Amino acid sequence: MVAEEIAHLQKLQEYDLKILVLKNRLDALPLGVARLQGEAEEKKKEVEEKKKIIQNAELAQRKLELELQEKEEQIKKFQLQLNEAKTNKEYTVFLHEIEEAKKENSLKESKILEMMSEQDTLRRDEEKEQILLKEANEKFLEKKKEAAAEMETLKSQLREEEGRRKLLAVDIAEAALSLYERVRKTKKNGLVIAQIKDGTCSGCFMKLPSTVVENVKKGKDFVLCENCSTILYLAEQ
Ligand SMILES: [Zn+2]
Repeated sequence: MVAEEIAHLQKLQEYDLKILVLKNRLDALPLGVARLQGEAEEKKKEVEEKKKIIQNAELAQRKLELELQEKEEQIKKFQLQLNEAKTNKEYTVFLHEIEEAKKENSLKESKILEMMSEQDTLRRDEEKEQILLKEANEKFLEKKKEAAAEMETLKSQLREEEGRRKLLAVDIAEAALSLYERVRKTKKNGLVIAQIKDGTCSGCFMKLPSTVVENVKKGKDFVLCENCSTILYLAEQ
């Protein structure tokens, strides 16, 4: 009687382990997709930040160009005043103003050139980041598609295994089944029933007392490992 139920429980455990693997895979799949989505979002943020930096650099350049233009206007005015200077002193003053303004503008012009070169570097960086973003997005979408397809397969396999398990469970005696379920609730790895090999529990690899092995041999009742609480059986049963 016990021997027959042990054979059932072995089969039941086989299904349960398959179900466990399928469920773990089903749980893990969305995590992988979410990780790639997070990476793509991170890349998008980087590109947007780079764009903002470029925009600010362009604004700063435009401001400087405007200042340069104003200064040019000023130089023209000084030039007119210079031409109409009535005294040497006035002439010297305007000439000095013009020279100062030209010096300032020359500095501004080199600054603008520097800014333009910096922006070229920034734009090249942005292009590279755009490519990385595109790649990250493609990777994410591909994984999403793959995961969706795999999940469908896994779900159908799961339904199949659960169907088999249900059919088998109907044939198992109530006491054996409830013992199995009780033990199963305490086992994260799904190992509910374990074979005795060389007097050792193959669930926890502890040497079993000979009385325990004897009780299993008698086959009158279910015997649990005192250490790991798995249901024990012997191969010859
Ligand atoms: Zn054990």
